[in-house]
Amino acid sequence: MISTYSKLPGTSTTIFTVMSQLAAEHKAINLSQGFPDYDIDPKLVNLVADAMKDGHNQYAPMTGIPALRELIADKVNHLYGADYNPDTEVTVTAGGTQAIFTALSAYITAGDEVIIFEPAYDSYAPTIKMLGGLVKPYELAPPDYDIDWEMVKKLFTANTKMIILNSPHNPTGAVLRDKDIEALIKLTKDTDILILSDEVYEHLIYDGQQHKSIAMYPELRERAFIVASFGKLLHATGWKTGYCLAPENLMKEFRKVHQFNVFSVNTPMQVGIAHYLKDPAVYMDLAGFFQEKRDLFRSLIGQTKFKLLPCNGSYFQCVTYSHFSDEADTVIAKRLITDYGVASIPVSAFYIRNTDHQVLRFCFAKKQDTLEKAVERLMKL
Ligand code: GLN
Repeated sequence: MISTYSKLPGTSTTIFTVMSQLAAEHKAINLSQGFPDYDIDPKLVNLVADAMKDGHNQYAPMTGIPALRELIADKVNHLYGADYNPDTEVTVTAGGTQAIFTALSAYITAGDEVIIFEPAYDSYAPTIKMLGGLVKPYELAPPDYDIDWEMVKKLFTANTKMIILNSPHNPTGAVLRDKDIEALIKLTKDTDILILSDEVYEHLIYDGQQHKSIAMYPELRERAFIVASFGKLLHATGWKTGYCLAPENLMKEFRKVHQFNVFSVNTPMQVGIAHYLKDPAVYMDLAGFFQEKRDLFRSLIGQTKFKLLPCNGSYFQCVTYSHFSDEADTVIAKRLITDYGVASIPVSAFYIRNTDHQVLRFCFAKKQDTLEKAVERLMKL
């Protein structure tokens, strides 16, 4: 029966939409979905407006406008010492999620196994399943969400096609370290396993740590799709722009899908961003900017009943509450909205098996005032 058919029977509306809608319904302060609530740089707005006025309103080239691809290649070279050819190895995408979907679609087929680290961004598993692939989750646990590579090794089989990494990690704020990179190099050596590296929070890394981009390691780079986000870089998540990097042979396949998935990404944003990013100063201190927000939020929420988990990167602070409540995280997250007016994300939503470590995720990419008001409400808990 056509009417009851579902390609993704176990999948419902993404947790970000569910929680943001619930927050809006109850007029709660929304610290659930990850997006800033402050204005973006007016200079950038003007550059995009100028691009529209100057007539940049028709299709961009399928791969992205050349000036922007060149800037991306320069940025990656400058930051990670990697040489990506802007013509053949850089593609502008409609945000990180589209790049992830496209990279998976280009390679994953029935029976292919993909290793993911849970809690995992909620698009990975359904996309893999939709393509007929098999999700092989490795479950990480609080407080550190550290990866035991001996355990990961056990998930590898002859059908392993890809491994998805995400550092800085959403939702936990964990970051990959040298020991993780070393293990990954060892595990993938002499195999044709691909890497999909979701690095959308690359600039949001704290306490002087350096982001370990897969682009920095030739042995990994040659097998990797690297996904990045202008939404995070420019505080403009609603613009849905990002990019993907990959060696030419992989990018060729990526673009075969990209052209029929979105064809190209909105032109005036690309023109505006290309002008704006000519000055790297506009993004060089993002880590400092967000570290201040992280520190403020940690000091505020540290005064509530919640216990803080570490946060080394990303937009997100996770907390635990098992010492004062045995509620499921989905239950307490809803109660915080309805009874206290603050929205968060229950981290069990990022595990296929709904593993509940009783952890909530709060987004601190917000105005000081928003964070203060939210915590004021949570103090009543
Ligand atoms: N990446 C954002 C988050 O984790 C949400 C993205 C989305 O809603 N698609 O909150």
